[in-house]
Amino acid sequence: MSKYAHGQIVKALAGFYYVDTGEELYRCRARGIFKKDGVTPLVGDFVSISVQDEEEGVVESIESRRNAFIRPPVANVDIFVVTVSTAEPEPSLELTDRFLVTAELAEAEACLCINKDDLLPAQAKRIAAVYEGLYPTVIMTALTGDGVPELKALIAGKSAAFAGASGVGKTSLIALLTGEEALETGDVSEKTGRGRHTTRHVEIFKLEDGTRVYDTPGFTSFETAAAADLTDANIDALFPEFEEYLGKCRYADCMHENEPDCAVLAALESRGIKRSRYESYFKLLQTKKELQW
Ligand code: GDP
Ligand code: ZN
Repeated sequence: MSKYAHGQIVKALAGFYYVDTGEELYRCRARGIFKKDGVTPLVGDFVSISVQDEEEGVVESIESRRNAFIRPPVANVDIFVVTVSTAEPEPSLELTDRFLVTAELAEAEACLCINKDDLLPAQAKRIAAVYEGLYPTVIMTALTGDGVPELKALIAGKSAAFAGASGVGKTSLIALLTGEEALETGDVSEKTGRGRHTTRHVEIFKLEDGTRVYDTPGFTSFETAAAADLTDANIDALFPEFEEYLGKCRYADCMHENEPDCAVLAALESRGIKRSRYESYFKLLQTKKELQW
């Protein structure tokens, strides 16, 4: 007798996929057919499994994905928490915008987490002002836990992945979110046994409110946005505040570089578009052109 169940891959380790059905955690092998078809199950995949016994099963099929990434290898990110620090390392708005664009390309939501408010609060306010009205933003201090409830509210009920330069505090934030919950549920052995800091596997942690957090230090570089995605995309459509000006330039194919009667350049002059955001757009456009050559 074989029984079927539905769940999400929450961990991939040593050729096994750990599937959480909401009631049980099954250690699964993948059907050979996946390999033949060049499909690799990813952490975050929603799958159907056939159950062998109380602990083991076989991944039979994978549901279509909202998005998928190569490095780190995860699928179905609902929201990216784009993380930047006020100092140590010094914030880069260009890198921040690249991560936001990555989220737009993946058709995921994005929010902004400005960490290390303790070091340079004036810098936090300056960054927040750039993104006001564009992306939900939280200013916080992972070191003290300040702002954690606000961060939790931004990602509540979603599958959230952190993205940001090395050193901005992603690991600290993930530990705050998942560690606290593990302690709250009293499951200390699981918390200490998972070896987050010693192994490099990706894992999803479920918080009590249903939020899922991808525990991965990855998403530190622009590799997440596949070059192919970028060459196909209309770069101007990846900047939400450009939208109201698109289609209003003199030329239908305006790239908003130096063309006459460009609505985007006019908005830049009248400060409807922030200069740092325009500069990020401009750089990304050059990157796209280089890829096409
Ligand atoms: P990651 O590389 O993005 O994962 O960053 P980590 O979480 O490893 O943090 C890098 C360093 O910044 C560590 O030494 C943390 O203790 C420190 N750090 C993290 N959050 C804060 C914060 O809010 N304030 C300060 N001053 N330091 C922090
Ligand atoms: Zn234009």
